[in-house]
Amino acid sequence: MKKIRVTIWNEFRHEKRVPRIQEIYPEGLHKAIADGLAADDLEIRLAALDDPDQGLPDSLLDSTDVLLWWGHCAHGEVRDELVAKIQARVLSGMGLIALHSAHFSKIFRALMGTSCSLKWREIGERERLWNIAPNHPITQGIGEYFELPHVEMYGERFDIPADGELIFLSWYQGGEVFRSGVAFQRGCGKVFYFSPGHESYPIYYDRNVLTVLGNAVRWACPLRRIEVTCPQVKPLEKIGE
Ligand code: ZN
Repeated sequence: MKKIRVTIWNEFRHEKRVPRIQEIYPEGLHKAIADGLAADDLEIRLAALDDPDQGLPDSLLDSTDVLLWWGHCAHGEVRDELVAKIQARVLSGMGLIALHSAHFSKIFRALMGTSCSLKWREIGERERLWNIAPNHPITQGIGEYFELPHVEMYGERFDIPADGELIFLSWYQGGEVFRSGVAFQRGCGKVFYFSPGHESYPIYYDRNVLTVLGNAVRWACPLRRIEVTCPQVKPLEKIGE
């Protein structure tokens, strides 16, 4: 069986600097996600912003079928040329899963073409994620809804393009709603945005969250890579005078 090559990229700064967050994710939240997703059909590699080549040398990018991206306080440090490389690979077929505060990452905004702004609040309220696409590959194994007891609220309006397929719609105790799971096609690549994942709550240990991420990885894996070209071509039929 050919394994899906998954790379989990994490900014990996909060976990090093804030003891409360380090307690939740001692080896980084990317390691918790990797442990939670571990399965025979996945080959999972970890990458972080402070690694050489900002974690993503060409050799790793070229051998990545699906890239997961978690960033928050250091979006601006990600080099534009790396963002351009990732974007080109998505357009050729590589899957991208943007997690939580990656709504404001350079790569997600480049692929969306909009500001990707939203409302937020951190008071540890409850979130109920409604599964509004029960026949979609990403929601298999998920019931009508699931709940997370303590989250950071992300609220509408979420400035994303209207061509996304809505997978999850969230309600928060404080009254807001949010499109918390949205699937896009960009070129030949599939892109999924999934909002749970604030660093100060143990969200990447939640069984439902991990089920969604595992499903999303398998959904986003390309059938094949398509080289992006723009050729001048001869006509297939003879054109008469
Ligand atoms: Zn957050």
